[in-house]
Amino acid sequence: MLLEFQNQKKWVKNIMDKFFTHKYCDRCHGSLEGGRTMSMYNTDCICIKCKEEETKRPDYKKAVNADHEEIKKGNYNYSGIDNR
Ligand SMILES: [Zn+2]
Repeated sequence: MLLEFQNQKKWVKNIMDKFFTHKYCDRCHGSLEGGRTMSMYNTDCICIKCKEEETKRPDYKKAVNADHEEIKKGNYNYSGIDNR
């Protein structure tokens, strides 16, 4: 259980390090100076423009719901329906 917790912490740290050190959007490779956010579909760090595009996807609600469902189940490691 403790090991599981440590792995989870390590995983979150990796994601956060990636998230905060990123200079360019994972999707359009534009600058992240205007703001950044995590994709609902995977662990990509994306710009606000790409996030807007993402919310227009017909399956966006599904991605959000899947994320909430996994968190409810206690799976904080869930990385999205599109994770590669
Ligand atoms: Zn972008």
